[in-house]
Amino acid sequence: MKLPQSVTNCIAALEQAGFEAWCVGGCVRDYLLGLAPQDFDLCTDATPEEMHRVFAPYPLVTAGEKHGTVGVIFGKEVVEITTYRCDGAYSDSRHPDQVTFVRSLKEDLARRDFTVNAMAYSPSQGLRDPFGGQADLAKGLLRAVGNAAARFQEDALRILRGMRFAAKLGLRVEKATFQAMLQEKGRLDSLARERVFSELTKLLLAAKAEDLLQFSPMIVQVIPELEVAMGFDQHSPHHAYDIYTHICHVVEASPKETVLRWAALLHDVGKAATYAPDETGRGHFYGHAKVGAAMAEEILLRLKAPTDLRTQVCQLISRHMTLLEPDKKLLRRRLSQYGVEGVQNLLALQKADFGSKGVIGDDPDPGFGEIARLIEELLAEDACLSLKDLAVTGSDLMALGFRPGKALGDCLNKLLAAVLDEQAPNEKEALLALAQKELQAVGL
Ligand code: ATP
Ligand code: MG
Repeated sequence: MKLPQSVTNCIAALEQAGFEAWCVGGCVRDYLLGLAPQDFDLCTDATPEEMHRVFAPYPLVTAGEKHGTVGVIFGKEVVEITTYRCDGAYSDSRHPDQVTFVRSLKEDLARRDFTVNAMAYSPSQGLRDPFGGQADLAKGLLRAVGNAAARFQEDALRILRGMRFAAKLGLRVEKATFQAMLQEKGRLDSLARERVFSELTKLLLAAKAEDLLQFSPMIVQVIPELEVAMGFDQHSPHHAYDIYTHICHVVEASPKETVLRWAALLHDVGKAATYAPDETGRGHFYGHAKVGAAMAEEILLRLKAPTDLRTQVCQLISRHMTLLEPDKKLLRRRLSQYGVEGVQNLLALQKADFGSKGVIGDDPDPGFGEIARLIEELLAEDACLSLKDLAVTGSDLMALGFRPGKALGDCLNKLLAAVLDEQAPNEKEALLALAQKELQAVGL
């Protein structure tokens, strides 16, 4: 296994001082999968105090010492080294009430959540894999270390972590582990909401439709608003799928970005509540975008999602039924209203939504390719989209005789509207002439 120099240095320093030191967890798993590890966590039988002695010449990060973790700083890099420990009970399904340092690697590996995460490697000792993680990886299985139900009772976040690892690494959840996820899913309610949000986000970024379908009981446990969507027949020729299945496909079809994946998951959360069949029995969902946006707002507030993300997701949901059109003037208006990112995200969501109905619908393709091309064109032209892009400023208008206040603001907005609608070029002279007329009209 190829290790960064800083990691090799730490292992060598600890071994020279008579301690054991191993790379552990995600980096070993990722290496065996042929993936580039994101970070290298080390574990050792040295206590934090002993690490202070071994790493006396280096600056250290000591904030995690209570839990046994010391960070050794090499320039911009920090190598985190944690004393072998076993976790006590998790009375709040959140933090171990206490951590107990232990002397053997095996005890430390035994506290870890899944066999594929419970392997260690050192350059001098090779691989340590007491729970069969390597064999599970070869079989494509995600299996809890020890009794799955007991492990989920200790820390329910492991249920969500397991879903995430399965989705991200393409592993099947071993049968008993999956049964335990189902059995213990009620414990997800006791987790801190921000932990649930952060883990769900990671799941969404990795998920394919089949993952969200398979894990639906746990997803519905944390987002009960999605429950009615499951199996909900839309009675529509546009939709071959029930609402939840459609949602799962939209998530998969969306770019792997947090805002878009959340918007995809929640975009039709208001559908069931607005269902209204017409006299032919065909289903309609008038106003579901607005209703859904309000529900998403509540869900994301409850999950303590960052405000900025919540705002963007809810805006996308409330706009998702207003299709963008391949018309430059309209697109310029949208860019001005929603912002560049807002329009690009909306286009991505509408494309994913459109492509996930499971039927070749009777809706004509609104021309997504052409819309994207026109947006690029507008951006390349450096189109005037907001007041700050206008060729005139407030001071220019004041020089004409406007006084600071509402009339001046109104006039600037009118000038922008004229430019957006191609009634005036974004040029100083032309806009000043328009402003002059406006000044006379308001009689200032
Ligand atoms: P990632 O690639 O997402 O960082 P990772 O496996 O490194 O994956 P971390 O959350 O960084 O995951 O945790 C590092 C290791 O600590 C895990 O591999 C696992 O062995 C252990 N671990 C982390 N969280 C838990 C938990 N809640 N219960 C048991 N073991 C855990
Ligand atoms: Mg990690």
